[in-house]
Amino acid sequence: MKKSLIAGNWKMYKTPKESIEFVNSLIKNLKDYEDRDVLICPPFTSLYPISQIIKNSKLKLGAQNVYFENEGAFTGEISPIMLKDIGVEYVICGHSERRNIFGETDEIINKKVKKVVETGMKAILCVGEKLEEREKGETFKVVESQVKKCLEGFDKIEEIVIAYEPVWAIGTGKTAQPHQAEEVHIFIRELISKIYNKDIAENLIILYGGSVKPENIDQLMKEKNIDGVLVGGACLKIDSFLRIIDYRR
Ligand code: PEP
Repeated sequence: MKKSLIAGNWKMYKTPKESIEFVNSLIKNLKDYEDRDVLICPPFTSLYPISQIIKNSKLKLGAQNVYFENEGAFTGEISPIMLKDIGVEYVICGHSERRNIFGETDEIINKKVKKVVETGMKAILCVGEKLEEREKGETFKVVESQVKKCLEGFDKIEEIVIAYEPVWAIGTGKTAQPHQAEEVHIFIRELISKIYNKDIAENLIILYGGSVKPENIDQLMKEKNIDGVLVGGACLKIDSFLRIIDYRR
């Protein structure tokens, strides 16, 4: 059975102390699900203390970014080996905030995805169009180009998750309608089927991200091709994150 994935991207929020309190409370209140995985992606400074707390829990740990070299003179960067060593299982690659604020290109993201998987972790590859691109009818063209460029020369597709995150829906309170998200998820699955094969495409986890909250999670998860969500703002409060995790289809 393909499990769904509910992932929380904490962005640049929570000190180590706040993170520890949050995770203790999450573990205490988390139900024992068989059909879904729960992943948290805290800031780098909180990863190690959290890795120690969640050792005997079902929670999974992810990082929000990584560099594509193992070590070297790369001031300010974090290597995949450092992440793997402390128990990180997933790394978000190419989040739209990395693309648009920090200038990450598809080529850089491609190197990151490859390196993450080579190091033994799973990459969450984020793709999605901007508002002006959607309005010009370019959504599929943009998503296709991002997927192809970010996965060029990469064959371990079983080790990745794709997150469709329309930029106009991130942190804006504007969620894509479930059918709008579903049609892009279907498009991505067909594209992966063409590039790789049908089996791989069917097993691929495709997340939706963009203003997911307790009020819209159930509707989103009813869509056949939405295998989970990547949540920003609403994962920072324990009650709303727990309700999102506890979605009902
Ligand atoms: C995100 O950070 O990936 C995200 C989807 O943010 P938000 O849920 O706040 O829109």
